[in-house]
Amino acid sequence: MPELPEVETTVRGLERVLEGRRISRIEARRADLRRPFPHDLGQRLTGARVTSLGRRAKYGLIHTDRNDTMVFHLGMSGSWRINHESLEKHDHLLVETDDGTRLSLNDPRRFGSVDLVSTDELKEWPPFAALGPEPMDITAGELRRRLSGRSASIKLLLLDQRVIAGLGNIYVCEALYRAGIHPNRAGGSVSLERLRRLVAAIHEVLAEAIAAGGSTLRDFVSPDGELGYFSKSFSVYDREGRPCTCGGTVRRLVQGGRSTFYCPGCQH
Ligand SMILES: [Zn+2]
Repeated sequence: MPELPEVETTVRGLERVLEGRRISRIEARRADLRRPFPHDLGQRLTGARVTSLGRRAKYGLIHTDRNDTMVFHLGMSGSWRINHESLEKHDHLLVETDDGTRLSLNDPRRFGSVDLVSTDELKEWPPFAALGPEPMDITAGELRRRLSGRSASIKLLLLDQRVIAGLGNIYVCEALYRAGIHPNRAGGSVSLERLRRLVAAIHEVLAEAIAAGGSTLRDFVSPDGELGYFSKSFSVYDREGRPCTCGGTVRRLVQGGRSTFYCPGCQH
């Protein structure tokens, strides 16, 4: 499932072919993904110039000179393909640019989404309005303020998009491990000093994953739903029963219905 680093990698790949280009053609090959494509997608974007691209949480942003931003989410299985030889069954949205580049949004499971939002109203767009800060930007002080008084586990609070936006299960598990924080610890009880280590760990794991994703960028923009080679360097995620470097054993527990992987020897 595409996580924040895969979305960032995708946006950087799309940036290379879309920035400054004019959209010459856009075609939805079915009516919907998770929700319907905007009915006026073609009307509003045909002829528009892409001014810049960006990312918010796990959403990719394609800004145009018409004050329209195309917001995409890759869901469980989405990816953009560039200049493919032929169309595939699951290429649900096609975008062509004035220099002949052909893009397709491929999404076999169709949990993704595409929306058109006024660029100057993006912050107030309902899915964005309640989002916490970006994990690459958050400081330990800001995180402490957001966790203050909270008795829920640090693990679940880090997955809460209102506390911090876009962090998925894998990266939360890995960051807590690197920071030596037990996933069951109450969020409000983690000291500022330990939150500093946690924020540094969050920045590290995301930066490493983005760098790993970037290395696969050639004619194919980012992950086909796979995690790329970063998965080989997980310390705890999906490693239940396997040894930790400390000599202990990685354990699994279930929090909020999802698996947490951690080392009882390293995390307190
Ligand atoms: Zn350990």
